[in-house]
Amino acid sequence: MSRRPLIAGNWKMNGLKADGIALAEGVAAKRRAEPDLACDVLVCPPFLLVSDVARAVAGSGLAVGGQDCHAKTSGAHTGDTSPVMLKDAGCSHVILGHSERRTDHGETDAQVKAKAAAAHAAGLVAIVCIGETLAQRDGGETLEVNRRQLKGSLPEGANADNTVIAYEPVWAIGTGRVASPEQAQEVHAAIRAELVKLVGETEAGKMRILYGGSMKPENAAQLIALPDVDGGLIGGASLKVEDFWAIARNCA
Ligand code: PEP
Repeated sequence: MSRRPLIAGNWKMNGLKADGIALAEGVAAKRRAEPDLACDVLVCPPFLLVSDVARAVAGSGLAVGGQDCHAKTSGAHTGDTSPVMLKDAGCSHVILGHSERRTDHGETDAQVKAKAAAAHAAGLVAIVCIGETLAQRDGGETLEVNRRQLKGSLPEGANADNTVIAYEPVWAIGTGRVASPEQAQEVHAAIRAELVKLVGETEAGKMRILYGGSMKPENAAQLIALPDVDGGLIGGASLKVEDFWAIARNCA
């Protein structure tokens, strides 16, 4: 089964307006210069920059995503952003259940599932993040934790067109410590096997599973080449045009 890789940059809470536009323009220029690139490329700026970034990359082939959304379309939810608003601002994707949101905001699988359902209803692709902590890995719970989070976070109707899974071991995010190819492939294969039960064999075979956690130009090639790794969700290295692009160019 051939799956077109996705390289997604999660800018997190970094950059002011001028920085974000410059970064977006830099990545868009690379994308325009390589129209035959063998992967899809997505940038996920902070909420306030989404519209500016969408304008800056228009027509380049780059996709734009949000980093979270509310599970409702509108209403009395001070400080929140709805999936419909993201779509209206130019997003096609939204990252959901990132471990930083699960930790900083106590997000549960049930909340991630509701957000993903709302994202689908708004026409967004939900990038559903799962991953074990170091304590869970050391305790031998890695596969069980990932299966549980996956099952709890995927809404009815999830399919390969509206959903991407991101396996992000918490101990590898922003730490410089990357999963070995063996560790990554073991978990990705287990996730795909669980997806067969959750969405059926055809959709599981088509659904993209990204690796995230200290992916850099130096380690991206061997991770992206793994049979069940279909690209990357990239934090730190997505803030530098050259590094981000060097990762994207690893997609065969
Ligand atoms: C992330 O935040 O999704 C991530 C993978 O971060 P980093 O690449 O910096 O580890």
